[in-house]
Amino acid sequence: MRKKYLFAPGPTPVPERALADMALPIIHHRAPEYSAVLQEVRDNLKYLFQTKNEVLIFTSSGTGAMEGCVSNLLSAGDHALAIRGGKFGERWYDICKAYSINVSAIDVEWGHAVTVSQIKDALEKDPEIKAVYIQASETSTGAFYPVKEIAEIVSARENTILIVDAITALGVVDIPQDEWRIDVVVTGSQKALMLPPGLAFASLNDKAWSFVEQSSLPKYYFNFKKEKKSLEKNQNVYTPNVQLIIGLREVLREIKEEGLEHVFKRHASLANATRKAVQALGLKLYVVDKPSDALTAVYAPYGIDAGKITKLIREKYGITIAGGQDAVKGKIFRIAHLGYFGCFDIITVISALEAVLKELGYKFEQGAGLKAAQEALFGK
Ligand SMILES: *Cc1c(COP(=O)(O)O)cnc(C)c1O
Repeated sequence: MRKKYLFAPGPTPVPERALADMALPIIHHRAPEYSAVLQEVRDNLKYLFQTKNEVLIFTSSGTGAMEGCVSNLLSAGDHALAIRGGKFGERWYDICKAYSINVSAIDVEWGHAVTVSQIKDALEKDPEIKAVYIQASETSTGAFYPVKEIAEIVSARENTILIVDAITALGVVDIPQDEWRIDVVVTGSQKALMLPPGLAFASLNDKAWSFVEQSSLPKYYFNFKKEKKSLEKNQNVYTPNVQLIIGLREVLREIKEEGLEHVFKRHASLANATRKAVQALGLKLYVVDKPSDALTAVYAPYGIDAGKITKLIREKYGITIAGGQDAVKGKIFRIAHLGYFGCFDIITVISALEAVLKELGYKFEQGAGLKAAQEALFGK
């Protein structure tokens, strides 16, 4: 028997109470009992998103809601802008292309964040841009984008909306949708929401809903208007993943119990400890300007393939971390710390990382990473 640990940026560990709830016998999704669950979930989703909007719920992975944010908001030939600074920014671009959107891209070097002036310039160059699609936290690189400042620019434009993929940001850092006037916020169940994969969420403000009214792209399963109408009656249009909604009720209770402010502080503290620890081991952070608090991307030591680190740590210690993708495959590894994580999880992963680096022949002072993590978490 070997205990397993999940340190990948999705799926993330699920709290025991949610697991227990999801193991209960299934209830019927048209029964009053289910509607009561949905009523509570709707209220608490508003707390999580810091919004008065109805938060739409879809049984799909996060990409489903992303696709819906193109098919429900735009019409063929509309102009849009996407940021290609990682895998998920590329996904916005590709979805737009698939729907015949006239999409332009800002290409950002991986590991860096898009700048506010890049967005400004792009909008000035093409005043017809109706939708700006960004990530808050670009999970493939671990870079965090200046969401608040971008929202300031876009919200000042009458005919442009901002759609934020906050899949590894919502429930990690403070992104108050209404206060920052973000038109659409998207998330998924398997990251900060601490659930298995299978639910996606989208929250639209009034400005975004006016775009829905104009949209003529084909849509069927991801139909935002239908879903909103149904939700207001505590129903889903189609058969939802009932077990995940039951789990969602529990994790939202736990987030509320902890309080958003503390949730954000906890993530900041775990991220800080992880960064300090890997740097104390002589390793270099991949993201320099503004790393996300959801995960830490790290360059493998010179001469050691990052794939060897992720393989050995999994095979020998049962710990799953993530490697790099595309151009940084073999060069970086990524340690997630979002969702159901506490200080001793960081101690665990740093300890295992030291063991693996030692075995791969990397020279460092044993315990240096652990000491840095402990000092960051518990004080000197
Ligand atoms: C995980 C993730 C997604 C969604 O991916 P799915 O596999 O469809 O759930 C989208 N954007 C970001 C930034 C993510 O981290």
